[in-house]
Amino acid sequence: MENKRIFLSMSQQSGFEQKYIQKALDDNWITSGGPNVNDFEKVLENYLAEESFVTALNSGTSAIHLALILLGVGAGDEVICQSLTFSASANPILYQGAIPVFVDSESETWNMCPENLEIAIQDRIKKGKKPKAIIAVHLYGNPYKVDEINEIAERYEIPIIEDSAEALGSTYKGKKCGTFGTFGVLSFNGNKIITTSSGGALISKSKVLQEKAVFYATQSKDEAVHYQHSKIGYNYRMSNICAGIGLGQMEILNKNINSRREINRFYRVIFEGIDEIQLFQTVNKDCFSNYWLSTILVQQSTKENINRETLMLSFENANIECRPLWKPMHLQPIFSDYPYYGNNVAENLFERGLCLPSGSNITKEEKDRIKEVVNTFFEKHK
Ligand SMILES: *Cc1c(COP(=O)(O)O)cnc(C)c1O
Repeated sequence: MENKRIFLSMSQQSGFEQKYIQKALDDNWITSGGPNVNDFEKVLENYLAEESFVTALNSGTSAIHLALILLGVGAGDEVICQSLTFSASANPILYQGAIPVFVDSESETWNMCPENLEIAIQDRIKKGKKPKAIIAVHLYGNPYKVDEINEIAERYEIPIIEDSAEALGSTYKGKKCGTFGTFGVLSFNGNKIITTSSGGALISKSKVLQEKAVFYATQSKDEAVHYQHSKIGYNYRMSNICAGIGLGQMEILNKNINSRREINRFYRVIFEGIDEIQLFQTVNKDCFSNYWLSTILVQQSTKENINRETLMLSFENANIECRPLWKPMHLQPIFSDYPYYGNNVAENLFERGLCLPSGSNITKEEKDRIKEVVNTFFEKHK
């Protein structure tokens, strides 16, 4: 019998989603916004704490776009963005006709390098334009160096958009990721730690900003019975049905985090003693990762045939999905002409890194299959 495919990050149902979806149907509230959306925002605000005001949207990408709009980023403005990330972090900069300026990662958290961030800010100012915002990312659930990045951002008075799309439930010094920036961003896409099928949220620090986000997300309707518009509007609000799924998913968020962290421990055990593999983990007690994805670096080995490609192929032959890390933005054809500041840390990680199956619903049998591939691969090459 053919082995069933093991995916990188599958969604997992709690069984409670149907109850909230049914409520939306019973209320006949089958549109964007509505009671489930309000409830979902409240549940998220309680979860995040730290005076967070949440606006539920139809995607994380929309949330980043609205954050840029609310910060007044427009055509020709410059926005600093972590290079090692998913393209959704950077695309909204182009939606606004603004110019992305990419910054390298550091090797401890794989996230934005504070030194290169400061070099970039100083150089952009010298060249005549102070960046309007900084988009920093908690990649794969691992918090970036919040204190260092915040200190620089405050010193130069540049707001931070904290892309926490992969880091719901991760914390830095005990506080939830998503609450450190001027704006925080969450994603509830199907592959994230919880899902609303498709969805996202913008986290802000005031009721006023939250209301502004709702205004832009619902076509920027001015106060008038006739539809009147003095700002460009967007159709970015979360649907009441999707929010129902989100409410059901929130009931298992902590369970999902525990499962993903358990999978990370599983990888730690199976890679123990294998010199060529370095499992990526948080550097110290300040950082708590949801380990949305478990990732490894494969060392170039003197032994023949041990490298990232051959390991990935072995997994693929066993019908197990693996992927290289995100390809850095400054290497992407669409972004290659924009400025980049760094020392090729992200490039190097991209060449050696691999994301492993990390879904919260991976079974014991599936773990055995993963372990089998690893054991066979490294024994064969001894
Ligand atoms: C998933 C993701 C996003 C975008 O979220 P969507 O809900 O898919 O639009 C943004 N940034 C990062 C780092 C992501 O992983």
